[in-house]
Amino acid sequence: MIIKNINLETVCGITSKLPENDKPEIAFAGKSNVGKSSLINALMNRKSFARISATPGKTQTINFYNINDALYLVDLPGYGYAKVSQQEKEKWGKMIERYLHSSKQLRAVFLLIDIRHEPSANDKMMYDWVVSQGYNPIIIATKQDKLKRSQIDKHVKMLRQGLKLVPGTRIIPFSSVTKQGRDEIWELVETELLD
Ligand code: GDP
Repeated sequence: MIIKNINLETVCGITSKLPENDKPEIAFAGKSNVGKSSLINALMNRKSFARISATPGKTQTINFYNINDALYLVDLPGYGYAKVSQQEKEKWGKMIERYLHSSKQLRAVFLLIDIRHEPSANDKMMYDWVVSQGYNPIIIATKQDKLKRSQIDKHVKMLRQGLKLVPGTRIIPFSSVTKQGRDEIWELVETELLD
């Protein structure tokens, strides 16, 4: 994808009306600090367009980035941030649920998981939940530059087993440092998810 223009077109807070976009949407979910902003910046070829959080989980919004007037990258709020109250977490759960149900343009959900560690209880819950909402998320295994090349296959297997992925689910190792995986993600989006 050649990025010609990007625009943070809509920012939804908890009570905001969700936009009714007429272009395909691709959503990104993951626990805070997993590298979601860094991934979105890498996909957009920008250094710091999407917020890279110094204080994880602080800004809780759904952000719609218009790419070339052709599609939207949708940044869902990071989950698993301990300092957010239970009540707040539930509100956000409902907001994301509302988005997943109401969007007419959502083509795929990418779920980001840190490649280094066993998936957390929150990661498993999020995966099962997205599946229960009728989507089969594509897994992005983030921060792959932190592993030796020889460890990657083993860790991909660990994620597959830990999350009990539906057979055939794709896992794409990614690094925002080396940009490994970036082209593969765009290719998948362009060849399989856009009209
Ligand atoms: P978010 O909270 O999920 O949006 O995560 P951020 O993109 O803000 O990243 C959280 C932290 O992880 C920051 O310090 C990033 O620099 C770091 N980070 C993100 N992606 C990578 C990666 O691919 N490799 C490495 N080594 N660090 C990363």
